[in-house]
Order: sequence, then C-alpha cells, then structure tokens
Amino acid sequence: MKNCEICGSEKMKYLFTKEGFDHQQCCVCGLIRIYPQPTDAELDVFYDNPLYAVWGGDVETMKSATFMNILSKLPQDFKIAPPPNFWI
Ligand SMILES: [Zn+2]
Repeated sequence: MKNCEICGSEKMKYLFTKEGFDHQQCCVCGLIRIYPQPTDAELDVFYDNPLYAVWGGDVETMKSATFMNILSKLPQDFKIAPPPNFWI
C-alpha cells in the first residue's frame, strides 16, 4: 500500500467502496482517497458523461481541474511535507 500523499503516514483505514472504487482515510491527517487510483481508461469511462464536457473533456484536463479545485480549498498557510524517501 502506498503511504498518504499528504503526510506520508502508513496508517490508512478502509472506509467504503463506491462504484467499484475503494475509499481509504489516513489515520493521521484525515485525507480520504480512492486506492488504488483509477486508471486513465477507467476515468475516461467515468468522465464520458456530457456533464463533464464543460470542464474540458479529456482525462488530463479533468485531473488538472479537479486537483486545482481541491488545492483552492486548502488554507493559504497549509504546508505539504514530502513523503519519506521523497528526495532519494
Ligand atoms: Zn495523511
């Protein structure tokens, strides 16, 4: 299992499965993530809905828009520590 992308903790707990994707929560910082991450092919099927066309359409654009939306909600002074062994 991959460590938490935010705090680097190894302590993750299973929360639930939705639409075939397992959701986990970090026991240290509370991050909720889908794990394992969906493949681009799986995301392509998910984002094929016309509701998402206004966001740009392709998976790469959708990933970027989603990530920027999440980042914009973080407090301005929020700091992300690199995971252990990040610089190796
Ligand atoms: Zn964490």
